[in-house]
Amino acid sequence: MLIPARMSEAEEQRWVTVMLDKLAAQESKRVLGDAELSERAERLSAQYFDGRARPTSVRWVTNQNTRWGSCTPSEGSIRLSHRLQGMPEYVVDYVLLHELAHLLVPGHGPRFWRLLEAYPRTERAKGYLEGVVAAERLPHPPGARDE
Ligand SMILES: [Zn+2]
Repeated sequence: MLIPARMSEAEEQRWVTVMLDKLAAQESKRVLGDAELSERAERLSAQYFDGRARPTSVRWVTNQNTRWGSCTPSEGSIRLSHRLQGMPEYVVDYVLLHELAHLLVPGHGPRFWRLLEAYPRTERAKGYLEGVVAAERLPHPPGARDE
């Protein structure tokens, strides 16, 4: 770190604290790694499904552009699209929970959605993702480039 000259010790201490806070803020915005994603899935399963959904692997994939997440129940593996990276936490959590629920219930019948009702932000997250899809389908504003 470059510390401006002629700071008193107290000023210096305060400046270091401010810089560390800034670094911590950046840190919290960075993308979760696969290990953290697994931990998060474990926590969500414990919180909402009594820990019954136990994935063997949870990871990001970049080859999934039409689905937000997918899972292979026979293997217990869950994959999330990298397109979710940078979206709000509650949206990523919803997609994780959705795939975790598929480890317990295949398909999207009433039993499946009853599981997801436990998560208070299911509707909001679904709305967010629908909004993203709708926005991508919108034509670019006419003449936006030459105006
Ligand atoms: Zn599904």
